[in-house]
Amino acid sequence: MQKGKIGVSSDNLFPIIKKFLYSDHDIFLREIVSNAVDATQKLKTLAAKGEYNGDLSNAKVRVTVDKEAKTITVSDSGIGMTAEEIEKYINQIAFSGAEEFLEKYKNDANAIIGHFGLGFYSSFMVSSQVDIISKSYKEGTPAVRWECDGSPEYQLEEAERAEVGTDIVMHINSDSEEFLDKHRITEILNKYCKFLPVPVVFGKKTTWKDGKEVETDEDNQINDIAPAWTKKPVDLKDEDYENFYHQLYPLAEDPLFNIHLNVDYPFNLTGILYFPKLKNTIEVQKNKIQLYCNQVFVTDSVEGIVPEFLTLLHGVIDSPDIPLNVSRSYLQSDSNVKKISSHITKKVADRLAQIFKDKRDDFEQKWDDLKLFIEYGMLTEEKFYEKALNFFLFKNTDGKYFTFEEYEKLIKEEQTDKNKNLVYLYTNNPEEQFPFVQAAKNKGYDVLVMNDVLTTPLINKLEQKYTDKRFVRVDSDVADHLIEKEDRGHEMSWEEKNELSPIFRAVCPTNNDYNFIVDFKDMGEQAPPMVITRNEFMRRMKDMSQMQAGMSFYGDMPESLNLVVNPGHPLVKKVFEERDARLGKELARLKEEISAKKAEKSSLEKAKEGKKDDEIPQADKEKLEELKKTIDQLKEEQKSKLESFGKESKLTKQLVDLALLANGMLKGEDLDKFVKRSVELIN
Ligand code: ADP
Repeated sequence: MQKGKIGVSSDNLFPIIKKFLYSDHDIFLREIVSNAVDATQKLKTLAAKGEYNGDLSNAKVRVTVDKEAKTITVSDSGIGMTAEEIEKYINQIAFSGAEEFLEKYKNDANAIIGHFGLGFYSSFMVSSQVDIISKSYKEGTPAVRWECDGSPEYQLEEAERAEVGTDIVMHINSDSEEFLDKHRITEILNKYCKFLPVPVVFGKKTTWKDGKEVETDEDNQINDIAPAWTKKPVDLKDEDYENFYHQLYPLAEDPLFNIHLNVDYPFNLTGILYFPKLKNTIEVQKNKIQLYCNQVFVTDSVEGIVPEFLTLLHGVIDSPDIPLNVSRSYLQSDSNVKKISSHITKKVADRLAQIFKDKRDDFEQKWDDLKLFIEYGMLTEEKFYEKALNFFLFKNTDGKYFTFEEYEKLIKEEQTDKNKNLVYLYTNNPEEQFPFVQAAKNKGYDVLVMNDVLTTPLINKLEQKYTDKRFVRVDSDVADHLIEKEDRGHEMSWEEKNELSPIFRAVCPTNNDYNFIVDFKDMGEQAPPMVITRNEFMRRMKDMSQMQAGMSFYGDMPESLNLVVNPGHPLVKKVFEERDARLGKELARLKEEISAKKAEKSSLEKAKEGKKDDEIPQADKEKLEELKKTIDQLKEEQKSKLESFGKESKLTKQLVDLALLANGMLKGEDLDKFVKRSVELIN
């Protein structure tokens, strides 16, 4: 028997391994099983070259748990190791600067293990002792047994093993007894070993017999040794892709499309990505892209390896060229990873473009499920944005789809404003904004439906890109003003508006959610007497604030609404007539007084012009102050008269309520009062 010391620079490697690798303990099994798979494949390669003539057709990797002996054993019929090879591959762990490195990456077991080729030694995370019993394929070499209890000392001796291959026996330590549980082992094997290229078996298949679960003679194979992504696209049918999807995510709905990735230059990468059905929220994705390295599962957190928007996809990526064993921050700066990331982006865009070209109907049908993903990509990846412009679709209120180019042609004629801007009209809720949509259509405009969480940032982006395009929601103004086509003739003066708005303001609801601004726009007799609109800019700011931190200033502000009164409507004219009948004389008197005081004020101001302060007589100054005060008082009186008139006028209240009702804003007691008043007015 030979005794020796494991060749590490530090005397106490094992305590370091045990102490630092506290997360991800379960990867020990992945490491040991994939070593066994590698050893089997190596021997198969030799057999193919005629350097070995044993029968490997039934070669399997077998995992067994002995609860009593507290061991987990991984056995293979692979290449095996001679005593010299154990000496070389197991005992001589060459590394330098180990402690420094371990300290740095102590939370990332993957990094440590991969960096040092410590795969085998990860078994010491869970074992108090590990034995290797191995027989090399080389003829005439005896089997050997290596034992190590976690100290740097080991024992090596000749042993008995009938067949070529290796057993790794892990004596599980008292802290790790969870790994002696069958279900736990099954879970770990399913996580990491599901697609390894050599059969991995754990126990026997079971069936139900006489109400009991009993074992059969058949090996319970964990893995599918030839998953779809390892095959050629020509050999796969649509249903194979679908079946594989459900193999990955048993509970998920059918995917929309798939992309088979197959690159061998300048890096190696295979995989299948799927477009899942995305609901109208960016929900935290349960089913994630899985990353493999030669069919060994590595991780399902692919952030940093694929662009963020692609993390919404499902499927697998397998690449031996992604440096998986380094920290995330290093990953993102790695040029290979950058190439892979932009390659995948390009592939995804090309595939979508191709589906759009070949099967536009199908693409349109799936658009509502796809658009969130595409919009997300357009917002976050410039390269994707450029390509996506060819297949991004607008959908209008009639359910028709248009590309960017097609839509521009469609609306160019009717929807170009006086400043040569192309105005895209949209609604985020065709039902609620029905009157606005209808009014816009009556003017010969087309209206888009844009109603997902990314609509606002997306139209902001499009407006930045194209300074001659504007997006306007149909309820942001009255139809006549949505697209300003010519300079308008007479509009009510500010003064005139001021003399009218208190009537209507007085009956607008007052609360913390809304803030009403009264405006007047003559929309003609056919249009409603009053309409409520939402300022496009303010509304978008509010929308954005809900998505971004730091913009809550807008979010907290009450919503600013416009009550647009149509003075061209007979009922509004009637309000004005009522006002004149009730207040005509008083208002005329006030108006006269105000203009007389104003005339006085401006002549005093004129006299002041060009004079220094000390050249103006004190009396004049005082007079001016007094005039200002009087004017304010008169205006206040005028305003309060108009307000009380508004409050008393049932017709005014009724008209404002109607506008609120059309916007779904009349509720509770106000709605009740409205109904009662309506009955009264009809009588
Ligand atoms: P890595 O697999 O990264 O090289 P390991 O520490 O896991 O590092 O293994 C070291 C070496 O030991 C392997 O490269 C291989 O030569 C040998 N080895 C490990 N397990 C087996 C096995 N089951 N059969 C044959 N050789 C093995």
